[in-house]
Amino acid sequence: MKKKIEKALENVIIIDNKNIIESGWVRKIDFINNEIKIYLSLSNPSMHIRNKLIKDITHSIKNKNILETIHIKIEIKSDTKIKPEIKNIIAIASGKGGVGKSTIATNIAVSLVQMGFHVGLLDADIYGPSIPLMFNLEEDSVNLQQKNGIMNPIMSYGVKILSIGFFSKYGEAIVWRGPMVTKVLRQFMHETNWGKLDFLIVDLPPGTGDIHLSLLQEIPLKGIVIVSTSQKIALSDVNRSVGMFRIRSIYVPILGIIENMSYVLSKGTKEKCYFFGKNGVRDFSKEMNLFFLGEIPMLQNIREYSDLGIPVILKNENVRNIFIKIAKNIINQLQK
Ligand code: ADP
Repeated sequence: MKKKIEKALENVIIIDNKNIIESGWVRKIDFINNEIKIYLSLSNPSMHIRNKLIKDITHSIKNKNILETIHIKIEIKSDTKIKPEIKNIIAIASGKGGVGKSTIATNIAVSLVQMGFHVGLLDADIYGPSIPLMFNLEEDSVNLQQKNGIMNPIMSYGVKILSIGFFSKYGEAIVWRGPMVTKVLRQFMHETNWGKLDFLIVDLPPGTGDIHLSLLQEIPLKGIVIVSTSQKIALSDVNRSVGMFRIRSIYVPILGIIENMSYVLSKGTKEKCYFFGKNGVRDFSKEMNLFFLGEIPMLQNIREYSDLGIPVILKNENVRNIFIKIAKNIINQLQK
């Protein structure tokens, strides 16, 4: 009987196209009095993953017609200690680099602080960790305190920050391979003194790839926020990202999409000039059934303050209002 159940479980495919048996997630299978008990152990037992696994496993076993009447009990345990004091982990993603993902991650984090929340920011953009620059955290000023192997994040503008950039010298390239990323992220998640957080914002690398799969496996996300410009080439990459987050085996809820650099205000007439195309992201969101979280104009101020390492919402009231509205939309989407 156990063999038959194992065979059935081989049809449950998870991340990396592995099945659930190959993944090593199945700890034990018991079969007593017409009841199958399956014990699983995984690193990311968030609610949506639990529900999906239960559904897929039940479906797969029923499909095999193992017994007419059968009760299936599934127990899922975490094999890593997810800190219960981190309430919501949200990732900011983009299809392409340079669309303003880190700028937006920074200003959403500071907006949430202004709204009275405890906030952390984890910069996992291995291709170009720019959070240290956005908070003016230069190498010399960063002194990661470690106590008994536990790291303390750096506090800046009320946000607790850890960046993959703290581990490389400015301008120095590191080729991060999957296992290295997994190791560092594990440390960021589990061996870091985050304290109590209402939100942990994760700045993901742009695009899709192996790294994303490791990340999604390591970090129990509540949802993803996507950033894009309206340019066709940016949206075609976003399309791929949406596809990845919606893969059956990954399925992380997408909370919505933000249109960045929507328009430029012409100096004299104050007319809106749609540099990257008008409403591209808005139309795309309808097409893909994604919530439209808001639009951010292209402003010299935004570029200038991010270069100075000051979150622009602290300096520009209009921009602040835009970000607070977006942050509220994200919270509403989380509650749905
Ligand atoms: P990504 O993280 O997607 O690679 P960044 O956040 O690093 O992108 O932004 C790339 C550049 O664009 C930065 O110099 C940033 O200051 C600038 N930028 C981002 N959003 C805006 C905006 N709305 N208006 C003006 N400049 C922006």
